[in-house]
Amino acid sequence: MKTKMNIESLVPYEVMTYKNVIRLDANESAYNMDVNIFKSLNRYPDDRASELKNKLADYLKVFPSELVIGNGSSEMIELLFRTFIEKGDKVLGFENSFSMYKVFSTIYEADYITVSNDYVMDMDELIRTAIYEQPKMIMICNPNNPTGYLISKCDIERLLKMYDGLVVVDEAYIEFSEGSMLNRLDTYDNLVILRTFSKAWGLAGARVGYMIASENIVSSVLKVKAPYNLNALSQQAALYALDNKETMAENVRAIILEREIMERTLDQLDIKAYKSSANFIYFKGQDDLYEALLKKGVLVRFFGAGRFRVTIGKKEENESFVKALKEALVEIN
Ligand SMILES: *Cc1c(COP(=O)(O)O)cnc(C)c1O
Repeated sequence: MKTKMNIESLVPYEVMTYKNVIRLDANESAYNMDVNIFKSLNRYPDDRASELKNKLADYLKVFPSELVIGNGSSEMIELLFRTFIEKGDKVLGFENSFSMYKVFSTIYEADYITVSNDYVMDMDELIRTAIYEQPKMIMICNPNNPTGYLISKCDIERLLKMYDGLVVVDEAYIEFSEGSMLNRLDTYDNLVILRTFSKAWGLAGARVGYMIASENIVSSVLKVKAPYNLNALSQQAALYALDNKETMAENVRAIILEREIMERTLDQLDIKAYKSSANFIYFKGQDDLYEALLKKGVLVRFFGAGRFRVTIGKKEENESFVKALKEALVEIN
């Protein structure tokens, strides 16, 4: 069977499945939550996840009608494409950013155009490109994965003032930082914010993400959402997490502290590491560092061309990483 032409060039998202390694490759939380979830599994889940939506709306201080909840923020990204993007539409983003924006652009036959960035994201350039190219949708990851760079709120606001297409701000890591666009939702009805329980909340296994946007956008997106998209177990898990938000805050504080320690350590090792506003650090090194670390049981994310990202784990994990890194640097030099 021949697949659609635009799908042919895609490669499946590759997830490393090593056993017995310290996993610092996927920005998950090292902290787990205990949840008692086997409740009413004979029934379909609440299609609109109302209980969760109300509790979440309360937490965020928005209206439930401004929320869509689903299977990770990945589903939210796809729903935006499914709702708004037609073949040939332009989608604009930064080059060194979350890979799924490009993947969904390919699947939905959009033209993904990028502004180049190594670490710093040049918003003047993005705004100029937006005005010139008039994309249907702009994807901004803030703080950015994989670099950890944080764009200032006023820079994002400058874009919102100049451009009235969809501006999607992916705040998957905002709990590790400051500067959410949440309190600008009432001002800009073309603003969409994406959030997830996968990172700071430590629920990557439950796959819960959400979108916050104007009621207009939300009601369009709900038209294409599959029924019962968020299963009952995951709804329970997210409710439990929201009831324990102090735990999340404590874990975030611990991770930020560890991140600062790691930044100093990498600096002392003369590694070019970049200041991060998230739960990972982007750094540069020789390509063979990846295999050398893996041999010592530490998995980091390698993006090719000397670019790496290490997730901040628990103290012991971070120390194992540093130990492995020191040995690896000696070996490969
Ligand atoms: C991890 C991540 C997501 C996906 O989160 P899920 O809710 O697990 O689908 C979305 N955007 C960015 C930038 C991420 O890093």
